[in-house]
Amino acid sequence: MTTATNEYPTKAYGATAPDSGVGPMEITRRGLRDDDVLIEISHCGICHSDLHSARNDWGRTTYPIVPGHEIVGTVSAVGDGVTRHNVGDRVAIGCMVDSCLECSHCEQDLEQYCKEGMVGTYNGTDRRDGTPTFGGYSERIVCREEFVLKVPEGMPMAEAAPLLCAGITSYSPLRTWNVGPGSKVAVAGLGGLGHMGVKLAAAMGAEVTVLSRSESKREDAEKLGAHAFLNTTDKEAVKAARGTFDMVLNTIPVRHDVTPYLHLLKIDGVQVLVGMIDMMPELHTGVLLGRKVLTGSGIGGLAETQEMLDFCAEKGILPEIETIAMQDIQTAYDRMEASDIKYRFVIDMESLREG
Ligand code: NAP
Ligand code: ZN
Repeated sequence: MTTATNEYPTKAYGATAPDSGVGPMEITRRGLRDDDVLIEISHCGICHSDLHSARNDWGRTTYPIVPGHEIVGTVSAVGDGVTRHNVGDRVAIGCMVDSCLECSHCEQDLEQYCKEGMVGTYNGTDRRDGTPTFGGYSERIVCREEFVLKVPEGMPMAEAAPLLCAGITSYSPLRTWNVGPGSKVAVAGLGGLGHMGVKLAAAMGAEVTVLSRSESKREDAEKLGAHAFLNTTDKEAVKAARGTFDMVLNTIPVRHDVTPYLHLLKIDGVQVLVGMIDMMPELHTGVLLGRKVLTGSGIGGLAETQEMLDFCAEKGILPEIETIAMQDIQTAYDRMEASDIKYRFVIDMESLREG
C-alpha cells in the first residue's frame, strides 16, 4: 500500500464537473506527518451537502471533488507524535479536518467557526501544504489527530457514521438554545438531519413536532419519538399552530420562504436554519418585530461532537439507515433528492475495496 514517498494511493468516488455525476477515481493520501492518523474507512454517510457540493449548488466547488463527511473507520497507522489514538481504535471524522486551534473561537471549542476558516473534510485546502482535501467516499483518509473522534464502545459503525454530520448539526443548536423538558421544538423537513433532530430533542425531554410536506411520514414521525405531526401543506393546521414553538429547527435544503416558520414561534422563539439554501427569498422585517429570532448553526465543535457521540451511546440513540454499495451512489443521490429515504444512506466501504 505504501509507495516510496510514503503516500497512499487510494480508491475513491468523486465528481469532475457539476454534471459529471459521481464515479470512480484514484486519489493520493499524504504520507503521515508527526500528528497524523491513517484511518481505513469502514462506512461513510451520505449528506445532502455532498449532493449540493458535487453539483456545485453553492458555486464554490473545486473539481475534482470527493464528497463524504460522515466517516468512521479503524486506525491503521499513526505519526510519531500522535498521543490520542492507537492502531486498532474505532474512530470518526466529521465535516472538518483542521482549523487554527488558536483563535478566540477555536479556544471556545468552536473550531467550526475558526476565524481563519475551518478546513472542510472535502473541498477544503490543507493549511500546511495547500493541497485539496478529499472526503470519505474513499478507502482511507489521513487526518490530524485532534480532528479524529472516538466511536463509543459498542456503537455499531454503520449507524455511527451519520452522527458525524446529521447528528451534530441537530444536537448543537438544541444544546445552544437550552432545549430540555418543557421546550416545544418543531423540526422542519424529516430527512437525515431532521430525523436526528427529532430523536435528540425528544431524548433531551422536549415536546417535538415534525413539520413535513410528506403525509407518508406521519407514522414514522411518531416512531422516531415525535409527539405531533404537522403537514405543512395543510394551511389551516399551520395557522392554528402559530405562536406555539420555542424553536423551529429548519433543515429544508432548498430556497424557500422562512416566514411561515417564524409565525409558528412564540415571542423570543428561535428559528435555526441548518439547511444550506444559498440566497433566501425576501423577508419582511415586520415578522421579526414580534421578537422572533432568525439564526443559523453550523455543525458543532470537536468537544461537542464527542459529547454528542457519547450522549447517543448513553441514550441508545442511533440514526435509521439504509446501507448501500459505493457503486450505487447515483441512485442514492436521486432518491435523496426525491426525499425517498428513511432516513440516511450509509456507504459500506468494503464495496469500494472489492469493486
Ligand atoms: P435530506 O436528508 O435530503 O432531508 C431534507 C428534508 O427536507 C427532506 O427529507 C424533506 O422532508 C425536506 N425537503 C426536501 N425538499 C424540500 C422542498 N423542496 N421543500 C420543502 N421541504 C423539502 O437532507 P439533509 O442531509 O438532512 O440536509 C438538509 C440540509 O442541511 C441540506 O441543505 C444540507 O446541505 C444542510 N446541512 C447543513 C449543515 C450545517 O452545518 N448547517 C450540516 C449538514 C447539512 P419532508 O419530506 O419531511 O418535507
Ligand atoms: Zn453533512
